[in-house]
Amino acid sequence: MSKTGKAWVMAGPGQLELQEFPYPKCEDDGIIIKVEACGICGTDKHMWNGNAGMVDFPIIPGHEFAGVIEEIGPDYKKSMLMVDETLDLKVGDRVILGPGTKGCGKCPTCLKYPDKPLLCQNRFRYGHSKVGEPPYFLGGYSQYIYALPDSWLFKVPDGMSPELAAMAEPTCIALRVVERAMEPGTPSTGHGFGIGKTVAVIGAGPIGLLIMAAFKHAGAGKIIAIDMLPKKLEMAQEFGADLCINAKLSVEERQRIIMDNNEGELADVVVEAAGAPIAFKQAIDFVRRGGIVIEAGHFTDGGDIPINPYTICNKDCDIRGVWANHPVTFRDALNFMDRTTVPLEKLSTHIFGMNDVPEAMKTAGGPDVGKVIIKPWE
Ligand SMILES: [Zn+2]
Ligand SMILES: [Zn+2]
Repeated sequence: MSKTGKAWVMAGPGQLELQEFPYPKCEDDGIIIKVEACGICGTDKHMWNGNAGMVDFPIIPGHEFAGVIEEIGPDYKKSMLMVDETLDLKVGDRVILGPGTKGCGKCPTCLKYPDKPLLCQNRFRYGHSKVGEPPYFLGGYSQYIYALPDSWLFKVPDGMSPELAAMAEPTCIALRVVERAMEPGTPSTGHGFGIGKTVAVIGAGPIGLLIMAAFKHAGAGKIIAIDMLPKKLEMAQEFGADLCINAKLSVEERQRIIMDNNEGELADVVVEAAGAPIAFKQAIDFVRRGGIVIEAGHFTDGGDIPINPYTICNKDCDIRGVWANHPVTFRDALNFMDRTTVPLEKLSTHIFGMNDVPEAMKTAGGPDVGKVIIKPWE
């Protein structure tokens, strides 16, 4: 009998089925990775709930994975996008892939914004593409991943666990938030994030916590966590928060607490990472005049919220969105994850075996749940 591998296939919202596929042939320009850990992303959960917009079902979900090389084609260096040219990879090395291949280079987005390949609509994305043809294994809820040519390939630092490495993708979002907060980048004059600045983060879920950790690593003076759940605020303290505020308090009460603990001022930077439209409005309420608001919580459409434009004018503040980061950030994310003093591994609060993926999916996003990780069979 020829070799096979198993993967969870999502045929539509709420439908997950374990299927078996033929083990693919490793082409000269391809790599087959044995998945060791795969995170459940908020967007996976949205696909499962049926509110992720257009999805090309059936798919094998999962774009936050780490694994070891099972087979490697002799021409991988010609086909893969590797920022470290000196790297010689071999069977058994632990690697991660960027969430998709490079941009097509030809669409209007690629032509106009070449520095933003993640915005290309034509590029292939792991965990989002229709399954059914060889090499089949193109999502992380699986025993294997087939690395297609033009994939961003990164070696995991020695000693880093697969569970942690699998969090490199959401960590890239956190790095993008810090990058956005640095613009225009003259912190000494009060413009942009810099060493010693005060950052408030609304929402202490996995992304919010990674954002706090990244700001701490980047030299924030004070980090303020705002969330409704005491358990998440407890976690926030471990991830760098100096001050925790319960989101159930009124806006005025929260403003008062921020000012009482920040030399009478509101925050230099406020990040919305709760994913609730009301939190975006409040982010503007909590930022100081001349400060920066970053919206990093709405990767799906949560609806509208009335905003008073006077507040934005009066505060002379900047409001910035965060969608996706250049894949090269994965190198920086792994570097940060390797060096930070924050115990990032505590973020994976729930680990499920490969047989329990539907249960893992139900658990993800729960009130006391950090990152949910799936671990395939040994
Ligand atoms: Zn993700
Ligand atoms: Zn393109």
